[in-house]
Amino acid sequence: MKLFDAHCHLQDPRIFSLAPQLIRSSLDSGIAHFAVNGLSENDWHLVKQMSESHPSVVPCFGVHPLFVSESTDRWFTVLRQYFDSTPSAAVGEIGIDKGSRGREIDFNVQVEVFKKQLELAKELKRPASVHCVRAFGDLLDVMRETGPFPEGVILHSYLGSAEMVPELARLGAYFSFSGFLMSMKLQKAKKMLKAVPCDRILLETDAPDAVPKLDLNDLFLVEGDPSLSPRLQTLGENPHLRAKDDMSVVEKEAPGLPKEMLNHPANIQKVLTYVASLLEMSEEELAEISYSNAIRLFCYEGSKICQG
Ligand SMILES: [Zn+2]
Repeated sequence: MKLFDAHCHLQDPRIFSLAPQLIRSSLDSGIAHFAVNGLSENDWHLVKQMSESHPSVVPCFGVHPLFVSESTDRWFTVLRQYFDSTPSAAVGEIGIDKGSRGREIDFNVQVEVFKKQLELAKELKRPASVHCVRAFGDLLDVMRETGPFPEGVILHSYLGSAEMVPELARLGAYFSFSGFLMSMKLQKAKKMLKAVPCDRILLETDAPDAVPKLDLNDLFLVEGDPSLSPRLQTLGENPHLRAKDDMSVVEKEAPGLPKEMLNHPANIQKVLTYVASLLEMSEEELAEISYSNAIRLFCYEGSKICQG
């Protein structure tokens, strides 16, 4: 059984020094590829470096909505240079955020930066990994205006409604599920999952964040260094944790989780088990479907993973 972690952040400074070990142990347990998403100009070099030393890493470059204010005036030129020098790269993490932290950042600027990067993804014929918190109406507007996206748009850690799925899918969306799904009300999650076309399902960990809401003894956890997070310095909190006022989310993460314990990409197997049970599908079948979806999506000109 092979798996593809469609969205994670192994370049995160809290776990960066452990990344080679995390990748090795994940490869041993059947995770063949990792789409590693940059957040801002400050970490693109780490993502690039990681993809050069680990063929299993698909590099993704982008400005995350909560980091737009940290961009230099030259961000777009620098971003283009990264794509020029890294033909295997996809776009991400980009998006819009109206959660409690996103509200502190000018929404018009977020939309402008997001659109520019979506247009770049289209021009380069690459998929883009998208973060959307409490802004699905705006997301649809932007995607209608800029799309459709034949190369695919990955709605990462999707927690939107079932009703929005068909229109998003029509525009080229893939729906990627992480441990955050365990925080969504069960019936709502089931209904939404069943609305997603089979050829648009992906699995991810968003590691080192999004620890699945399970008994800690059942998880692979990484002891990271919380003092090394640039996100914590800037935002006072982690940008990947959903706002507690997000209606669909009951609780943010695994209960009793110590702050320094972080998510391991090998926990994608826990996500697989959970999503398969909600879809009433075997784990083998879901692994196969999600893996072939990810390979199709990340196989573009310049990509190193278009095998077979
Ligand atoms: Zn992310």
